[in-house]
Amino acid sequence: MKYALVTGGSRGIGRAICVRLAEMGYPTLINYHTNKDAAEVTKSLVEAKGGTAELLPFDVADGKAADQTLTAWQEKHPDDHIAALVNNAGIRLDSMMIFMQNEQWHSVVDTTLNGFFYLTRRALKDMLTNRWGRIINVASLSGIKGLPGQTNYSAAKAALIGASKALAQEIGARKVTVNVVAPGFIETDMVKDLDEKSLKAMIPTGRFGKPEEVADLVGFLASDQAAYITGEVISINGGLYT
Ligand code: NAP
Repeated sequence: MKYALVTGGSRGIGRAICVRLAEMGYPTLINYHTNKDAAEVTKSLVEAKGGTAELLPFDVADGKAADQTLTAWQEKHPDDHIAALVNNAGIRLDSMMIFMQNEQWHSVVDTTLNGFFYLTRRALKDMLTNRWGRIINVASLSGIKGLPGQTNYSAAKAALIGASKALAQEIGARKVTVNVVAPGFIETDMVKDLDEKSLKAMIPTGRFGKPEEVADLVGFLASDQAAYITGEVISINGGLYT
């Protein structure tokens, strides 16, 4: 069976992606870090759509933990593999650079960039052997234009874009695609401390996006129909200037 693994699937955009991929028929692996209750809610939503889901908790920034969890999963599923990988887990620890602590820099970079590296490297072998795969990385507007107060987050997301473009060229011949979605402001826990009213005024469509809208885009990129799209960065931001 071709499984989908969604990192950070317990909440927000990742949860909506799990539900969308389940609707498309993917059995879904829901990764999360600490929030088991939220992950259980995602699992119930997937099951309500007639899908199947398993919880796979680990810190994506911890390569060893990721490897151990996925090895244990593979032992239980010798005939299955991960055919669609969505690197969605991410955190924001904003600060002007002059005040930024080493920990703020490293946690953000480790989660986004090292998480992508550990999981993608591991998933590649099966995808290349089976000559079919979908890797979708969730970056951000911040990784395209840079945002003040987010040098750590902008750097991590920009690096994710660069790595995706390079990898797309390495593996395109094996029918494995690598694409990036770059959301603007999306209604999730990650942005709940922001002043939505004043930020909305800058967005041509006049509102924040919904996680389901990002999930629909990811779903398309994970489909057979998207076979000729690779190495792309697709913005989904209501028209915010990038
Ligand atoms: P969110 O609501 O804060 O959810 C974050 C998710 O990532 C949670 O499932 C969380 O798990 C998981 N996570 C965080 N650190 C992790 C780690 N070390 N290992 C495994 N899982 C981890 O965020 P969101 O808004 O849905 O964001 C999802 C992605 O979209 C992120 O990459 C974010 O940078 C990107 N993005 C979001 C926006 C936006 O406006 N919301 C805009 C642009 C880009 P727990 O529940 O266990 O904590």
